[in-house]
Amino acid sequence: MYRVPMYINGEFVESTGNSWFPVFDPSTEDTIAEVPDGNATDVELAVKAARQAFDGGDWPQATAQHRGRLLFKLADYIRQQSAQLSELESRNSGKPITEAEFDVSDTATCFEYYGGMATKVLGHVNPVPDNALSLSLREPVGVTGQIIPWNYPLAMAAWKLAPALAAGCCCVLKPAEQTPLTILELAKSFEEIGFPKGVINIVTGFGETAGAPLVAHPDVDKVAFTGSAAVGKLILRSAAESIKRVTLELGGKSPNIFFADSDFEAAVDGALFGIFINQGEVCSAGSRILVERSIYSKFVEAMAAKAKTIKLGPPLDRETKMGPLVSREQYDRVRSYQEIGKGEAKLVAGGGRFESAAKGFYVEPTIFADVDNRAQIAREEIFGPVAAVIPFDGESEAIRIANDTPYGLAAAVWSRDIFRALRVVKAVRAGVVWVNHMQPTYVEAPWGGYKQSGFGRELGPWGIEEYLETKQVHINLSEQPIGWY
Ligand code: ADP
Ligand code: MG
Repeated sequence: MYRVPMYINGEFVESTGNSWFPVFDPSTEDTIAEVPDGNATDVELAVKAARQAFDGGDWPQATAQHRGRLLFKLADYIRQQSAQLSELESRNSGKPITEAEFDVSDTATCFEYYGGMATKVLGHVNPVPDNALSLSLREPVGVTGQIIPWNYPLAMAAWKLAPALAAGCCCVLKPAEQTPLTILELAKSFEEIGFPKGVINIVTGFGETAGAPLVAHPDVDKVAFTGSAAVGKLILRSAAESIKRVTLELGGKSPNIFFADSDFEAAVDGALFGIFINQGEVCSAGSRILVERSIYSKFVEAMAAKAKTIKLGPPLDRETKMGPLVSREQYDRVRSYQEIGKGEAKLVAGGGRFESAAKGFYVEPTIFADVDNRAQIAREEIFGPVAAVIPFDGESEAIRIANDTPYGLAAAVWSRDIFRALRVVKAVRAGVVWVNHMQPTYVEAPWGGYKQSGFGRELGPWGIEEYLETKQVHINLSEQPIGWY
């Protein structure tokens, strides 16, 4: 067990409150490290450092080429350290090592993408009618507070830091209390790579004591949050006090829709992958599986049979497809939904703890069939490996059920009829729609939700937009007095 300090103003520090909290390995339930229990004073110090780096010009006035190069260097460093970072990510979050490796590679790609974009932020010349030159300049928003969840710890940090840094913003990032280790490990490289002090600060701590003061801080210009809808609402309210810019990527209850003409094998495979990847701890998880009535029984049977063959086990075992859930809290939450489901629908696979593991927060991949879309397990985000399978008759009913949710993050439709697939794409109210696939995510393409899944878009050119202000500049080309008096 070791103590890992947090990173404020270019220094590795403990909390001003002198207290630490434990971080666990969810596969053994052992404490593997302690990190500082950051508080409002620590947040104050981090925001002050970010403010100085921003207002003093260390970062926004560095050339775009220079900012881009540092992001490339960071990406290279991540690739060099891939084995170590992946192992730490897997141990701390419980995700299978093979998925952690994928995430670390994605993290590097994200920094590379925005490293390239730093030099491609363009302004405009506005065609105003008078004898004038009218310009729109793009400028960094300023100091950003970034709060991230525990399901993709490094990748979520990259989605937030990379576009902000490329834009010239300074950052105070709060990782989730469950999974702070990989970003703190990465922070060891920041000084050597050349990021000026204060440009990136990592404050560890809990939501109420470190996250909330960051959101409320009047010197923070923008808050970017990924997490639960409940906390998203608190953040939006708190940000109102200082009219902060906010982007929110919240939960989902995403429909994965299967028509009878889809390739059966690929469809069953896609239904399982859509909900059980990363133990179901995915904001875009395909947790409502809508299946056309004519293939429904066969589909449910095939899903249940295959789910039973998914290999659960220690996250560091390369054969493992599902590890433990991230924490006891998340385990209890998912277990309670398994019980709720038993009262609401027909259990066809899983339904309990994975008992072959002596310790750890393992739950079985769980499938409920004959679910009514009004059931709790069809309405509430579970954020774990629990699928609700719902039959439907025809395209319009599929669309109606798909949209009958407060959320709108993602959806998928499986069909070999291109006309129908594209009609469904257009009719579904979601920020991401896959056709004959579910979950692949690319840094080049926008990510974010409709409805109560939040607002704002990450990744691609959309991602950097959220970190840019627009300044209108009007240059009079005439020296004639206005002479209105
Ligand atoms: P979960 O339900 O999985 O814990 P949360 O939305 O609570 O998801 O957590 C996502 C992130 O939001 C974490 O970094 C957490 O610490 C942070 N957080 C939780 N509560 C608050 C809050 N009141 N204000 C700011 N951040 C918060
Ligand atoms: Mg929480």
